Amino acid sequence: MRSYHLIAPAKINLYLEIIGMRSDNYHELVMIMQSIDLADHLEIRPSGTEEIRVYCNHPEVPLTKDNLAYQAVRLIQAEFPQIAANYGGVDIIIDKRIPVAAGLAGGSGNAAAVLVGLNLMWELGLTQPELQVLGAKLGSDVPFSLTGGTAIATGRGEKLDPIPDLTNLYVVLAKYNNISIATPWAYRSYRQEYGHTYPTDIDSFPTHSQRVHSGPLVQGIVAQDGVKIGKLLHNDLEKVVFPEYPEVAQLKQIMSNLGGLGTMMSGSGPTVFTLCSSLEEAETLKEQLLIRVDDPNLAAWTARLSASGIHLAT
Ligand code: ATP
Repeated sequence: MRSYHLIAPAKINLYLEIIGMRSDNYHELVMIMQSIDLADHLEIRPSGTEEIRVYCNHPEVPLTKDNLAYQAVRLIQAEFPQIAANYGGVDIIIDKRIPVAAGLAGGSGNAAAVLVGLNLMWELGLTQPELQVLGAKLGSDVPFSLTGGTAIATGRGEKLDPIPDLTNLYVVLAKYNNISIATPWAYRSYRQEYGHTYPTDIDSFPTHSQRVHSGPLVQGIVAQDGVKIGKLLHNDLEKVVFPEYPEVAQLKQIMSNLGGLGTMMSGSGPTVFTLCSSLEEAETLKEQLLIRVDDPNLAAWTARLSASGIHLAT
């Protein structure tokens, strides 16, 4: 049995709106998700034992059952017990390049890569829609991580409508290494503060997401209009993250002042990104930011928007 080398791209949220509370106690969301070419690299291979072993070069990534990649193996083992018993354990080696707990779906991407890798290695024959159903059991961002590109995500974030991929734009991403934000905290805080504004009529949820489907940001994406897209970036979670982490709010302000097409926090943060029309613009902005902030805790990257989800390394 051969091993597989997979690339798992990060995502940013061009748009994140919290609609309300669902009957299953999750939030109903409308998001526009976008893959970028900053990616983790994973190798998946038979362990030669019964064990699932996770190796990772990042000290904050858990190596046992708390790791989403580990959970992805357990899920496949539970779904296909006979095949799993036949093949035995798995080694997963994660080369972590996506910042951890950063709002970039690094863990979800790793889980998605394991689903794709095991599907190949154990010849399960699962289709993309079948992988997405399994992925949704592991986390709301896993289905998007599988397909990548540009998509509208609704429900908990697991229902996807692809829209034309944006690939001609770039981003500068920046994050303080001494700040990490737990996604459940961000949603809980939002509910505490804004829960009273949620619509009580669950049947009205589709109307809200329809507004985004036919709205100006999607029109900007269809037209590949970076200027329009940059002006319409939106993230409701900034309303709870910024008061608690003023450094993140300040970082957004500084990045926004430096230029680019638009600046926004990704997911539950703390990563902030600025959309740029060229790699040169993104690189210049990154250099200016690092001079302007001059804090050893600030890390910055540039990336290109990407049409790829999980794919094999060539
Ligand atoms: P999302 O945007 O999907 O909410 P995130 O980008 O904010 O995720 P992750 O990098 O996925 O955050 O990490 C969130 C937490 O998940 C980490 O604190 C870490 O303990 C845990 N975790 C579990 N598995 C992984 C993994 N394979 N890679 C990174 N973190 C993982």
